[in-house]
Amino acid sequence: MAPKPAKSLKPTAIEAISGVIASLWAAFIGFELADHDVSVLGIFSVVLALLATGLMIGSRVQDASRSELIKCHEPGCNTQIRVWHTSNAEVTRLRELAQDHCKHGAGT
Ligand SMILES: [Zn+2]
Repeated sequence: MAPKPAKSLKPTAIEAISGVIASLWAAFIGFELADHDVSVLGIFSVVLALLATGLMIGSRVQDASRSELIKCHEPGCNTQIRVWHTSNAEVTRLRELAQDHCKHGAGT
């Protein structure tokens, strides 16, 4: 089995921008809630939820931008495989599996 390529821990531009937007969004909502007599625990919970959601969305966008969707070209076949964070050899194997209808069709 081929070793998986290591994922860099350095944030990408998409992750950095989504982090800044999530932080600003959470801070804005936190200040708005503070003006409406919401408890500190309530504000803290909402801010953490907004931060987590924003960072998760940024991570998903990042994954989608780095992934490849491989579809079968056979009419009427809905087989598709999304690959990311894998070796070139594995991408080649999955591409052959997805694009060769005989390897995944009803006849096998
Ligand atoms: Zn197919």
